[in-house]
Amino acid sequence: MHTTPAFPNLTLVQHPLIQHKLTLLRDRATPKKIFKELVDEIAMLMAYEATKELSLERVPVQTPLEDAIGWQVSGKKLTLVPILRAGLGMVEGILRLVPSARVGHIGLYRDHDTLKPVDYYFKVPGDAAERDFLILDPMLATGGSAAAAVSSLKRAGGTRIRFLCLVAAPEGVRRMLDSHPDVHVFGAALDRQLNTHGYILPGLGDAGDRLFGTR
Ligand code: URA
Repeated sequence: MHTTPAFPNLTLVQHPLIQHKLTLLRDRATPKKIFKELVDEIAMLMAYEATKELSLERVPVQTPLEDAIGWQVSGKKLTLVPILRAGLGMVEGILRLVPSARVGHIGLYRDHDTLKPVDYYFKVPGDAAERDFLILDPMLATGGSAAAAVSSLKRAGGTRIRFLCLVAAPEGVRRMLDSHPDVHVFGAALDRQLNTHGYILPGLGDAGDRLFGTR
């Protein structure tokens, strides 16, 4: 794990397996099937770190030999919120780690006139104030969608929100820090910059297209 002084809101998860898989993900020659598997695996490995501070409560357990005390994740239930559509690729891997997690969805588009992100789909469990949220999007680019997704979740009552991406651009991390300093961002890499089309450099291309084979 690694933090940078410029971005106190960012934790880079630099486990060797994550970095190895991320490099395969960046490779333009990696086929769709492998790309999807890698996103799934990296998301699972990263979720291990991003859930590190979930609170525990003591519970009694009967082993085959005697009564004992164990631990279970307490109270605030975890909810995954993929941003459509690339965030969907991260859901299954994390659910393998936390099968009881609920899954909400946020879909956003950019309004042509105002250039502001608008929700076209928003569905999360009703008891938002009682939950720990993990917003999922492989790419944190300009940060516009990420910041809008957090705002929507806060309007719905969410308070404990983290953001999980694979690749972040400095511009997106800065945007999140300015708009939502309370939301911690977990990423596998902090890349150099955005290009003029809003793609991350060096990045990995369009994550949604590579996941779903559209292009
Ligand atoms: N979304 C992507 O899929 N890729 C980028 O590089 C930026 C945003």
